[in-house]
Amino acid sequence: MSERTLAIIKPDAVKKNTIGDIIARYDKAGLRPVAIRMMKLSKSTAEGFYAVHKARPFFDSLSTFMSSGPVVVLVLQGDNAIKKNRELMGATDPAKAEAGTIRKAHGANIEFNAVHGSDSSETAKFEIGYFFPEMDLVG
Ligand code: ADP
Ligand code: MG
Repeated sequence: MSERTLAIIKPDAVKKNTIGDIIARYDKAGLRPVAIRMMKLSKSTAEGFYAVHKARPFFDSLSTFMSSGPVVVLVLQGDNAIKKNRELMGATDPAKAEAGTIRKAHGANIEFNAVHGSDSSETAKFEIGYFFPEMDLVG
């Protein structure tokens, strides 16, 4: 079933010039971008995006990291896009991510881990709406 997921190429990956490599991986996996936006998040925008984690000890550090430099926010569409993107990304901790995954290739540690991907259809809906009005989705 074709569905949509939200991906973010995080500030660490943008700084390392890996935008092209990461988007090529989406292309090869059949995840088609239907919206792309490069932006620098304010700290409060990052906090709102990660509100689900606000009780976690890493929340402040994560929001600071996510607002530390430009990011690329994408909506990807394809069959089982949410699960497929989670597989492409690999485990949250790059040290535990499988070979061939984005986080294995480009993540430094459990915080600076290169990419974000929605983890369910409910979070995908919230996250897509957080960055894009429906009319900006071209697919
Ligand atoms: P994922 O991004 O794999 O869905 P989570 O939703 O659990 O992982 O966490 C959101 C983000 O918070 C992670 O991608 C990572 O950047 C950061 N993070 C997660 N766990 C930790 C941790 N223990 N210490 C520091 N940062 C963390
Ligand atoms: Mg998550």
